[in-house]
Amino acid sequence: MICVSIGRSRHKMIVHEHRALAEKGAELVELRLDWLAGLPNLARLINDRPTPVVITCRRKSEQGRWTSSEDQRITVLRAAIAAGVEYVDLEEDVAQQIQRYADTKRIVSHHDFEQTPEDLEIIHARLCKLDPDIVKLVTMANSANDMVRVLRLVKESDVPTVGFCMGEWGLASRVLCGKFGAPFTYASFSSRRVVAPGQLSFDAMKDLYRFDSINSETQVYGVLGDPIGHSLSPLIHNTAFRDADLNCVYLPFRVAKNALSSTLDEFELFDVRGYSVTIPHKQAVLEKSQYLDEAVQEIGAANTLFKDDQGHWRTSNTDYDAALESIRLGLSSRRFGDADTEDTTDGLEIELKGKKVLMFGAGGVARAIGLGIVRSNAELTITNRTHQRAIRLAEELGCQHIPWADRDLVGADILINCTPVGMHPNVGESPFSADWLNEQMLVFDTVYNPEETVLIGQAREKGCRTVTGLEMFVRQAAMQFQCFTGKPVPLEQMQKTVREYIDGAIEWSSR
Ligand code: NAP
Repeated sequence: MICVSIGRSRHKMIVHEHRALAEKGAELVELRLDWLAGLPNLARLINDRPTPVVITCRRKSEQGRWTSSEDQRITVLRAAIAAGVEYVDLEEDVAQQIQRYADTKRIVSHHDFEQTPEDLEIIHARLCKLDPDIVKLVTMANSANDMVRVLRLVKESDVPTVGFCMGEWGLASRVLCGKFGAPFTYASFSSRRVVAPGQLSFDAMKDLYRFDSINSETQVYGVLGDPIGHSLSPLIHNTAFRDADLNCVYLPFRVAKNALSSTLDEFELFDVRGYSVTIPHKQAVLEKSQYLDEAVQEIGAANTLFKDDQGHWRTSNTDYDAALESIRLGLSSRRFGDADTEDTTDGLEIELKGKKVLMFGAGGVARAIGLGIVRSNAELTITNRTHQRAIRLAEELGCQHIPWADRDLVGADILINCTPVGMHPNVGESPFSADWLNEQMLVFDTVYNPEETVLIGQAREKGCRTVTGLEMFVRQAAMQFQCFTGKPVPLEQMQKTVREYIDGAIEWSSR
């Protein structure tokens, strides 16, 4: 079950949002009385309530907004119990003062907005002694490990426990607590009306993460990275799982650069079946894998880690195949969403042979794409802000390099941007001067946020053929889906999801 929190300053707005939530299928709603300007008129909020409610009235010391006295707060909580509300939220000290009465269920809660304390188990044991129907333990995660500790406690508790972590580090725990038996989780009315850090909207929790169908059998997947909040991967993978009717969920896992190995060991608790891997873990993840596919061995980096039928971790680099397919698509002048997937990369080799390719960047994506270009017998030249890295990569791949300052002076048939230049928030920038673009060129920008970068916009104005980063992004995700599930690549369906997101038909933020 999902408990949706409403915090508004006016009674009228709470009643209005409560009705709207009931119409959208909400089964439980938390009324945050502390958000009201002035003392609550309880009867107005609960007499005709369209769903069961949790009554919460949080003090300022627990990041609530209650400004009247503590006596008044306790009177309000007692009045809610006397009126027969379904649940009341009582902090540890208040739970000792207010006794059980009639059918109202007691949620005995503890919040820590700074950290996940070392003595988590001791706090939980104390709460369990205060006659709870449900214990609620919510802490701020400052590492992935904090989230694991809270979820282990939820799993092992004899008393039903709603336990999860706030903040970006803990985001996945808001969903995963359902796998470990939490009676419900919390969500916000909308993504703009969040009442606690990291809270997901009701729509995302219900329709995308499908919290109500998560159980101990649910297979867990996710994306490993830092930062991770802007990733579109949870949107497209969860939509694909839902459309294929699979009992799977895909979560954003923020993992610090030097903590990958130990964190993956700790994530064994979740029995994760597969990960997408992004910056900064694409090289480090190789250590975790028993089997590396051919592209991973050559590139030295992977974007996919998944368990095979024997339970062995395998890595794959779907960026590589996705980028090459995208270039092939550009050479055949098709645009995003038009592609068939029948052609093979042999066709690409024929099309690329002898072409002059200028590539910006010498990082992980440049390495993968550069390898494919060189293998296709094209003439590759690399340029990079840090020239030494361009030299190193060029030596490894056996191609040319030029200084970054000279990049506009080299004639090319194909331009490929493998840097974040032009990416949100620096959307006004381009790695190449528009003056040197010409209609014979193919321009491929791996940046996909936004889809139409300055470089792509200028290239289209000049009549160049273009390939956007979204083309590559969707393809690498679709190939990952196949690694994860063994099911056919849902390319068109993923393209549709991304298109709806770009057109604003889907509102999405994993934070
Ligand atoms: P990476 O390994 O961190 O490499 C980043 C590269 O960009 C380095 O060569 C770096 O140069 C250069 N760079 C960074 N900031 C720059 C700036 N302000 N001006 C000029 N050059 C700059 O990252 P990566 O994994 O290769 O990813 C690179 C880009 O590819 C990402 O930003 C993303 O937009 C795109 N990407 C797209 C997809 C997709 O599916 N479409 C997938 C993954 C990545 P230095 O060596 O000087 O630092």
